[in-house]
Amino acid sequence: MPTHQSILKDTFGYDTFRPLQREIIENVLARRDSLAIMPTGGGKSLCYQIPALLFDGLTVVVSPLIALMKDQVEQMRAAGVPALFLNSSLSPEAYQENMDYVRRGQVKLLYVAPETLLTPRILSLLSALKVDCLTIDEAHCISEWGHDFRPEYRQLADVRRRYPEAVCLALTATATPRVRADITRSLGLNLSNEFVASFNRDNLYIEVAPKRDPDIQLGRFLERFKDQSGIVYCFSRRQVDDVSEYLERRGYAVRPYHAGLDDDTRRRNQEAYIRDDVQIMVATIAFGMGINKPNVRFIVHYDLPKSIEGYYQEIGRAGRDGLPAHCLLLYSYGDVAKLKYFIDQKEGDERKAAVQQLDAIVRYAEDERVCRRKPLLAYFGEKFNAEKCDNCDNCNAEAPVLEDITIPAQKFLSCVVRTGERFGAGHVTDVLLGSKNERVLRLEHDKLSTYGIGRELTQKQWMHLARQLSQMGYLNQDGEFRTLSLTETARNVLKIRARIFGQLQEVEERAKKKDNKKELEYNHALFALLRAKRKELADADGVPPYVIFSDRTLVEMAAYFPQSREALLGISGVGQVKLAQFGDEFLDVIKPYCKKHKIAEKARETASAKKEKPAKKADSEIGMRTTLVAEAYNAGESLKSLMDRQHVTVGTIIDHLTKYALAGNRLRNGEDFQSLTSTSPDDQQAAFAAFEELGAEYLKPVFDKLGGRINYDELKILRLCYLAR
Ligand code: ADP
Ligand code: ZN
Repeated sequence: MPTHQSILKDTFGYDTFRPLQREIIENVLARRDSLAIMPTGGGKSLCYQIPALLFDGLTVVVSPLIALMKDQVEQMRAAGVPALFLNSSLSPEAYQENMDYVRRGQVKLLYVAPETLLTPRILSLLSALKVDCLTIDEAHCISEWGHDFRPEYRQLADVRRRYPEAVCLALTATATPRVRADITRSLGLNLSNEFVASFNRDNLYIEVAPKRDPDIQLGRFLERFKDQSGIVYCFSRRQVDDVSEYLERRGYAVRPYHAGLDDDTRRRNQEAYIRDDVQIMVATIAFGMGINKPNVRFIVHYDLPKSIEGYYQEIGRAGRDGLPAHCLLLYSYGDVAKLKYFIDQKEGDERKAAVQQLDAIVRYAEDERVCRRKPLLAYFGEKFNAEKCDNCDNCNAEAPVLEDITIPAQKFLSCVVRTGERFGAGHVTDVLLGSKNERVLRLEHDKLSTYGIGRELTQKQWMHLARQLSQMGYLNQDGEFRTLSLTETARNVLKIRARIFGQLQEVEERAKKKDNKKELEYNHALFALLRAKRKELADADGVPPYVIFSDRTLVEMAAYFPQSREALLGISGVGQVKLAQFGDEFLDVIKPYCKKHKIAEKARETASAKKEKPAKKADSEIGMRTTLVAEAYNAGESLKSLMDRQHVTVGTIIDHLTKYALAGNRLRNGEDFQSLTSTSPDDQQAAFAAFEELGAEYLKPVFDKLGGRINYDELKILRLCYLAR
């Protein structure tokens, strides 16, 4: 007899349930109505897909997004689950055909749009069948208080009454308490069966960086994500066009997405992105809803989002497959002013709400001390209990070197007082710098004792100091002009002349300890081959690549090198049907590769040993110095700076990095190496092909293969280029 546990492994290929999945599934199987609230990527689908396979009768899934239905059904079918959908996108013939399958009881899972479910045709079809489970996906659509109300959803209460024997499962990723209550009441659910998962997505690395030269920053960031999918969010259509053109010029496969494009272009661009035909989508916030793509590896906010809620929703589109993903927000005060300009066009309560939302995200972005997860989760009413998450920039920053800033801090605070605590940091700075601008003169602030006493610092340094004083709790910032006033603490500090420590120099990029440490180490060359195979199979079947296998599955294949069908079955995401359908195709890639490179299969720890250990060699094996150099390099340090700091030649640095990469570690892909070689592009290609064929451990075979026309010094550089690809 199959159980939910056995189906998890046999059909879906997973070892363990994600948080609350087991509880929800068991509750549904016990025929208790349930409401499940889980973040995007939490694994909601499994909560009804597994019971559907255990119930005798039919599971009906109501979903508002037609595009997603097709996607879900394709994924179900690839796993061997008899699933179908009925909606307006089908031709009359296909519709009839699908109805016939359902009537004959050959379907376990039926996806329908709410308006379809209410047609007499479907109601009569279903009345002749046993419906065991009624699943309402995106259940927040039922509430007028949600952001996505759909009137058709209101009538689901009616449908619910028609199938009193069916257990009802409502699912959503967004629900304020008010919406929650609305769902429960409208569907007549029993309140005791509410499951609320944590909204913390611990695989997302969250970073906010000062926006200086955004194009260059973006370019540098993307070097780390060669061939990996991601989204760049911009504020305006024009910005989207500019950024996507810029990336295109730099050779990226990229498409724009915004409301100014016609439907057809938008649809085509989205499809190309989903199918991994293009790597990057540059979009306004309009992009991402109703897209299931699990392998989004990065999200960049090129401009400041309007609210924390929107921001969190957008970064939530990354890393649904549970693998690490990087979320970068580029922040500048200039963006705040831009958003304010738009807010000023609004009126009344709407304007007030918008100001508050902007304030919250500005406070979030400017905070350099507290773990990013704290304010984000607090916004959703959840407390993040740990002191640090170790997966955000603030937790990972090395403690900054602090200096005594007592004198400038006293000057700044007194100037705030002298100007009457009625101005923002900009004006206070103008006064300190002795500016003769119109406002300073009109207010006669050039007569104050603090006028012109701060010429030893730049305007930027004063602004940075002001931010620190706010974060330290010495200054309050209020209202839409962000007026500064002193806190009680500040008054005391001034009185007792306490010393204050901080930073005068704004650091270019904060030193990082190390990011994404949770990642499983894997062979990137093999991964690339597996990905190409997946794309080939997907295109042949006309489905997105992730329907075949997720990135997670390919990563595991490239980390454990399974050599047999049994071993393949141990890989996460490989169930019986997928094994039968695609197993050999992938083994035909893995086995020859391993043979050529003399790689043996590695044991994979499964369910019992929950946490995977990275296959990385212990630091001691490759040497402390090597690890330090490589990690500094990976964290963004340039070759030049490494040479200067370590007092060594570039050859030594190359040796360290090579050793590190050959031990199976990932190296950042910078353009640094390529600039070191004087070989022709043709010779480079020949050398890469030789490394691909002969492996990169030894240079002699490659030297010989190329007839000795590239010397060893050059080969060392090219090998590093090859390893860092
Ligand atoms: P949601 O609908 O909550 O956004 P999905 O149901 O689409 O999330 O699941 C997100 C991803 O996680 C999918 O690729 C899914 O296959 C995968 N997944 C779900 N449950 C598990 C599990 N127990 N173990 C591993 N992967 C899982
Ligand atoms: Zn953190």
